[in-house]
Amino acid sequence: MGKISINIKSGKIAKQSDVIIGIDLGTTNSLVAYIHENKPIAVKGKDGKSTLVPSIIHFAPENEIVVGEAAKLKLIEEPHNTIYSVKRLMGKSYNDLSEIQSYLGYKILDEDTDSLVKINVQDKYYTPIELSAEILKELKKRIEEELEATVSKAVITVPAYFNDAQRQATRDAGKLAGLDVLRIVNEPTAASLAYGFDKLAEDAQTIAVYDLGGGTFDISILKIDNGIFEVLSTNGDTFLGGDDFDKAILDYWYKTYDIKATSLETDRSFAQALRLAAERAKKALSSTESFSETVHNIDLSLDIETFETQIKSLVNRTITACQSALSDAKLKAIDIDHVIMVGGSTRVPAVKKAVANFFNQEVYDKLDPDEVVALGAAIQADILAGNQKEMLLLDITPLSLGIETVGGLMDTIIPRNSKVPIKAGRNYTTSVDGQKNLKIGVYQGERDLVEHNRKLGEFILSGIPPMPAGLPKIEIQFIINADGILKVKAMELRSDIETEIEIRSQYGISEEDMAKMLMDSIQNAEGDMKQRALLEARNEANNIILATNKFLVQNDSILSEEEKSQIKKLHQSLKETVAGTDKDAINKAMEILNEYSAPLAHRAMDANIQASLKGTKL
Ligand code: AMP
Repeated sequence: MGKISINIKSGKIAKQSDVIIGIDLGTTNSLVAYIHENKPIAVKGKDGKSTLVPSIIHFAPENEIVVGEAAKLKLIEEPHNTIYSVKRLMGKSYNDLSEIQSYLGYKILDEDTDSLVKINVQDKYYTPIELSAEILKELKKRIEEELEATVSKAVITVPAYFNDAQRQATRDAGKLAGLDVLRIVNEPTAASLAYGFDKLAEDAQTIAVYDLGGGTFDISILKIDNGIFEVLSTNGDTFLGGDDFDKAILDYWYKTYDIKATSLETDRSFAQALRLAAERAKKALSSTESFSETVHNIDLSLDIETFETQIKSLVNRTITACQSALSDAKLKAIDIDHVIMVGGSTRVPAVKKAVANFFNQEVYDKLDPDEVVALGAAIQADILAGNQKEMLLLDITPLSLGIETVGGLMDTIIPRNSKVPIKAGRNYTTSVDGQKNLKIGVYQGERDLVEHNRKLGEFILSGIPPMPAGLPKIEIQFIINADGILKVKAMELRSDIETEIEIRSQYGISEEDMAKMLMDSIQNAEGDMKQRALLEARNEANNIILATNKFLVQNDSILSEEEKSQIKKLHQSLKETVAGTDKDAINKAMEILNEYSAPLAHRAMDANIQASLKGTKL
């Protein structure tokens, strides 16, 4: 299956693999996985030690870049040249950063603007995209060594709450690293894939993915129905994780052994040794009952009960977030079919117990919690590669997509919750005689008026040959491909002119905004309906007003003066109602005008027929 290509740098012939790789680009650690003999495996480094690549980038002298374990060693010595947690900066502007600035040991350009952040290292500035690309390059290198071939295609996971800018930044990082990012997948979706929940049952299943890493906590509630994943809600805490467990242990030791803050400040190696011992204690207590070790002549010890007491409030905070996620999804704990544990810190037995207790069921923890997301990404990659034919991984459109029609009304073309890929279209026409151009505004949302929805883009179909209003046949098509890219096409079918736009990124939207938009549409449903009815009545009335004008001009000789003045009178009062906001008055005025003019229209038609039979033009 492999293709042969030449490595430009070395001049050697390199094998190119068709394998699509799965990448978990994490805040603390990243991993790469692929499908080997029908099973997903995470790839270890050359030393064969760990599948985890610490998401840390160190700039050595001469701007030489080191990534992973080697970079982690420099974190204490050279904090300003060593970048960590870059995932927290993805897609962020300076204005977004106030909350995390103090947490980072390196320098971020301090500008009060909406532009994307840059990180200052030595004499250069780097974007989070460039830095993430370094991590991705390291992962790419790792798998290429394993496969002894080059790879170029990847699936990368991101948190479910990532907004579109963050997703786009992740894609861009992939591109910079020489990877064609075929799909961005939500981390909880990947975890569910790793456990095979997509193919377990016929019925829809609801899954809670509890992800407690080193520094972040996410809870996501997903629904899987016929292979379609939908994120029902997300919650969490971007500053809560295993590092806080370590700190809780440290605080306990400081108190118990009377360790003074001053001694920690003056002796950094002592502070560091204690911190590492705290992490070792925590890890040990995941499989034993007690821990003891001597550090700088202090006999440190910790038993499991004490540890659990120290972290109780932290664990409780995660449970509160689970509660919020459930209520946002309008569900109860009993509605959850499966609970998946993700992230290194879910190895802590007290965490497992608390989660199992809250959801009142056993949790899924058989797969390595550090690897589960990467394994799922590899499965998704394999599906995309077409190796799992029985499965088509579908996404859904979270909000309706449509265009603006006369009077600012939203006309939905693809309703929300449609399966992607999808193609849908509808026919329109012009509202003015001789109209040459048609502006097409593309919107996303559930409200009846486009002004309340989100504008995704706009384009103009120009060059429509002059025709009376209503004659042109304009087809508007919405096409969403498997990558979620929306293309909108407009075609005038009588003249064959067409134009299209592609909407790439903007139409992704954060779960939070989406929930808000849906909520708004429900809360405003009644008002929106009234408004829509009014606008529709106005549109119809305007058409009648135009038609009446035409009628008067064309049939001047057939109509008596009295008839003309009566039509003008009714025409005028219809115009007045259109200016108002009473839909019933508009409808009534239309009815009266129609009633009066219908027999006249018949007469006019007869006269026209007579005239044309005689060959006279009126
Ligand atoms: P992650 O960000 O998912 O890689 O999670 C890393 C976190 O998991 C760190 O805080 C680790 O200390 C923690 N961790 C790793 N192994 C264990 C273990 N055996 N017991 C408790 N915590 C662990």
